[in-house]
Amino acid sequence: MPQIKHHLTDALLMGYSAGTLPEAFDLVVATHISVCDECRAQMHSFDALGGALIEETGTMAIAEGCLEATFAQIARGDKKTEARPIRKRGTFPAPLQDYVGGDLDAVKWRRVGGGVSDALLKTSGQAAVRLLRIPGGVAVPDHGHRGTELTLVLQGAFRDASDRFGVGDVEVADDAMVHKPVAEAGAECICLAATDAPLRFSGLIPRIAQPFLRI
Ligand code: ZN
Ligand code: ZN
Repeated sequence: MPQIKHHLTDALLMGYSAGTLPEAFDLVVATHISVCDECRAQMHSFDALGGALIEETGTMAIAEGCLEATFAQIARGDKKTEARPIRKRGTFPAPLQDYVGGDLDAVKWRRVGGGVSDALLKTSGQAAVRLLRIPGGVAVPDHGHRGTELTLVLQGAFRDASDRFGVGDVEVADDAMVHKPVAEAGAECICLAATDAPLRFSGLIPRIAQPFLRI
């Protein structure tokens, strides 16, 4: 079990528990909690909260939107991406292996420039999720976000501003954040990244390429 320092937010765990996240985000959350005891325990407490809510309607103080979300989930009969604590052999935790249909060697990479490769995973809805492969010492181009971006480290590590993100760590970036993740020297950094809106890269060429790359 990796030493995890950067975790999911309560809002994301609650959304996952209630089944209201886009599929792309569900996958990142399921993958993180399959390797993180802390977030898994927290998610179970939200699951229990949702259950209690059904039994004792209206008697508990619940975060705004949670009641609606819970009922919406019941109405839809959602099957969310299963988060199992069991880790199959390989680089990818079990929920991600299930999604990809294998481990690292099953991924069909596409070069996106600067030695960086990515692989878009098929999901429904507006949000997108992809695997990113960044050579050691290489930076992902400067970019801001119009929405939320979740980046989970699967291999290697990256640094962003003053923080280091190693295997199992997840970075939650939002609208206000312009950041420049740089893969740590050494092993390739492999991440799972979900975005709920297109990124805005600050360089001209990446901006032109963006619609084609769908990142
Ligand atoms: Zn965690
Ligand atoms: Zn970003």
